[in-house]
Amino acid sequence: MAEPSSQALREDNLHKSFGPHEVLRGISAKAGKGDVISIIGSSGSGKSTLLRCINLLEIPDRGRIVVNGEEIALKPVRGGQMQPKNWRQVERMRTGLGMVFQNFNLWAHRTVIENIIEAPVHVMNVPRREALEKAEALLSKVGLYEKRDAYPAFLSGGQQQRAAIARALCVDPAVMLFDEPTSALDPELVAEVLKVIRDLAEEGRTMLLVTHEMRFARDVSSHVLFLHQGRIEEEGPPEQVFDAPLSSRCREFTGMRAH
Ligand code: ADP
Ligand code: MG
Repeated sequence: MAEPSSQALREDNLHKSFGPHEVLRGISAKAGKGDVISIIGSSGSGKSTLLRCINLLEIPDRGRIVVNGEEIALKPVRGGQMQPKNWRQVERMRTGLGMVFQNFNLWAHRTVIENIIEAPVHVMNVPRREALEKAEALLSKVGLYEKRDAYPAFLSGGQQQRAAIARALCVDPAVMLFDEPTSALDPELVAEVLKVIRDLAEEGRTMLLVTHEMRFARDVSSHVLFLHQGRIEEEGPPEQVFDAPLSSRCREFTGMRAH
């Protein structure tokens, strides 16, 4: 069935277990183009698993994922699990989801600019010259142009994460997925990364953001999901989730983290 063209991402009834442990218990959510969806919840509630299922780093056991109107085709296999019907489709759709991890995950033996052009040149067959031009523009945007030829080890954590964001942007992702992008940073480096993410939000990028930065989530989000034990326990606009949650667990969680 055709999806509304304003929809960038949709997940329906996602389930995922690791052995006997059911980590996602039926998560449904959608992001319209330009939406910023923050995902909050305590450690172990399933936030990373949700992002990893969306880009098929984990295969959900049940449910549907639709990116930019295209459903990822999954087929049931033995043991009640699922597998992609077509890994090429997964590969292509993954490229449309810019993922930014807690630990940057830059290639240590490649310079910053080589990190950024890797996927466009080697996966998407963008001509090298074109990719370099774009990468340089993105590096300027995140304030790292002068570090283009540096190796990651010579960058601060904040600079590495900004380079990782430029890398994710270089494939023109339909949706950016951030998994606690500032959690591994020294406190004085958090702001420079949040500023880049805020600029992206203001530009109208579609983003899913797992974060413990409550104040930031309240500021930039159009919608907030509070996960508890693999279910969405509370969701709504930030004013509701942070100021008037229906769930007492959600109130407790955000209350503990309010500064
Ligand atoms: P969060 O990101 O909210 O802290 P996660 O999604 O990382 O939570 O993890 C949710 C639960 O799933 C945790 O109990 C974790 O130990 C478990 N889990 C995550 N990934 C795996 C895996 N690959 N194998 C087994 N258990 C896992
Ligand atoms: Mg996590």
